[in-house]
Amino acid sequence: MLVCGGIFARRAVFLTRLVIDAKPSDRPGDVPARVVAEAEIVLGQKKLLQRLIPGLMHAFIFWGFIVLFPTIILAAIDVAGGGDHTPSWYRVLSDVFAVLVLVGVATALVIRTVVRPARFEGSHVAESYFILGLIALVVTTLLLWHTVGGTWLAWAHLIVIAAFLAYLPYSKHLHIATAAVNVWMARTRKRGRLEPLRFDVPDDELRFGVATIFDLTRKEVVDAFSCTECGRCQDVCPAHATGKLLSPKLLIMGVRDQLFAQSAEPIVGNGVPEEMIWDCVTCGACVEACPVSIEHVDHIVDLRRSRLMVDSSFPAEAEPMLRDVERASNPWGKPQTERAAWAAELGVRVLEPGDPAPEYLYWVGCAASFDERAKKSAESTAKLLQKAGVDFAILGPREGCTGDPARRMGNEYVFEAAAEQNVATLNEQGVTKIVASCPHCFNTLANEYGDFGGSYEVLHHTELLAELVDEGRLTPVGGAGTITYHDSCYLARHNDVRMEPRKLLNVIGQPVEMKRSGKNTFCCGAGGAHMWMEERGSQINVERAREAAETGAETLAVACPFCTVMLDDGVREVGTGMRVADVATLLAESMGA
Ligand code: SF4
Ligand code: SF4
Repeated sequence: MLVCGGIFARRAVFLTRLVIDAKPSDRPGDVPARVVAEAEIVLGQKKLLQRLIPGLMHAFIFWGFIVLFPTIILAAIDVAGGGDHTPSWYRVLSDVFAVLVLVGVATALVIRTVVRPARFEGSHVAESYFILGLIALVVTTLLLWHTVGGTWLAWAHLIVIAAFLAYLPYSKHLHIATAAVNVWMARTRKRGRLEPLRFDVPDDELRFGVATIFDLTRKEVVDAFSCTECGRCQDVCPAHATGKLLSPKLLIMGVRDQLFAQSAEPIVGNGVPEEMIWDCVTCGACVEACPVSIEHVDHIVDLRRSRLMVDSSFPAEAEPMLRDVERASNPWGKPQTERAAWAAELGVRVLEPGDPAPEYLYWVGCAASFDERAKKSAESTAKLLQKAGVDFAILGPREGCTGDPARRMGNEYVFEAAAEQNVATLNEQGVTKIVASCPHCFNTLANEYGDFGGSYEVLHHTELLAELVDEGRLTPVGGAGTITYHDSCYLARHNDVRMEPRKLLNVIGQPVEMKRSGKNTFCCGAGGAHMWMEERGSQINVERAREAAETGAETLAVACPFCTVMLDDGVREVGTGMRVADVATLLAESMGA
């Protein structure tokens, strides 16, 4: 027992040291939300139970683990000569849970040997069998001790537990000890926010993302400890689903391998292949699916930051976008003077310096300002706001790119410059409320500009339009036919805006849901700066357009200018006659606007 305890303690000290020595994570307070997360995700097994059979399998083992914990003390009393003092009610309860654990182990074996889901590709499956065997031995020795009785069986039970304890911190079962910590440290409300890099700190505190394991934050280290290799992240990853090299699971396992080996080599190119980090569209599906709250997007963006800012190494096709965001304030490189051209004939007010702030500043975004297909959404939104009598104005040429594509690409310098410029403009104008058409702008304005002195109440245009319909200030009528709605990742998953667009579509047509919707949506392929990058192999937007076509709907509704462009291309590729239109456009049409 002492030897096993010693082996465990030695490893525990090593792992704790790794966490303490890592860079601090910026995870402030919010204790009530963290307690709720522990109750739901850890105790309630909420994420695991989204897949019923594997969820129940794990829940039986986990709940059994909790209920059976006191048997260790009771067995220790027995081997110390005190006899078996297990109360009869607890004997029944623990026997029931021991059997449930065996059912869980048997189910896990069937899943791994018969069902063999693709999500386990690349996981250490042999190690799983060993761990399942140990769990089965723990509960079998308990049941034998309870039924046959005798100190030697109590000894057998304790020896198996001691062996398990010694093995645990060296295996993927380490998550037993770290998952609850990782869930506690996870993001609470501002899910779409990336942690900013600070360039105004002493040299020894400067951080340019992650090059080696010594640059990882504490959250990133505990993430790496906590991966169970379940592959749920890999299963939902649009890059992986369309044949890219990226697997969020293998990426986290790669970081973990480097960490445990204490390798000073760069992570990219050793633990993680270069291609993987650029395949990601930052859709967050992996983060949403992960049962232990690993935040893959932070790892990927941190690795990108180091490659781009330190090594100047990134996909060449993104270079013009970065240059244009920096020099022209928009990724298309168009003159800023053309930004408000779409609004001129609609008579939309353009704010001049010193003008009083409107109730809502309408943040149009670069795509809806410059891209012909996306412009329609801005025109429709403006017409609807005018019709409802909303006091709004735009910044026109003084609106600059929020910096989102540069930030997701890893260029924090360009992002920070854009953020500081926009925050200065918004604050000078006394803006307090913003309505944004683009979910990427919406996310940056609402969740990220707070770190740069910009705090605003930010709504997406579908939220404000739904409010106006509720108040009777807009009165749409039906007749738009069958519509399927594509949830944008940055709206539905990163920011929980799911009901408002549906509320509007319910009034104007007959909505029909795609297989993957709401928080389980499938990306259009444009996020993470991929709007400006070449896609290898089969395309994410085509896969999504195909899924939309399967619903048989006449119209594919979107609420994001990037989704508009990507899915319009996808629909053409698939060859369906489906029309792609923004929710605002469909609403405006239903009102004859
Ligand atoms: S964010 Fe999306 S694309 Fe990136 S690894 Fe996760 S699931 Fe894959
Ligand atoms: S990162 Fe999370 S979802 Fe992915 S394999 Fe690890 S535990 Fe499972």
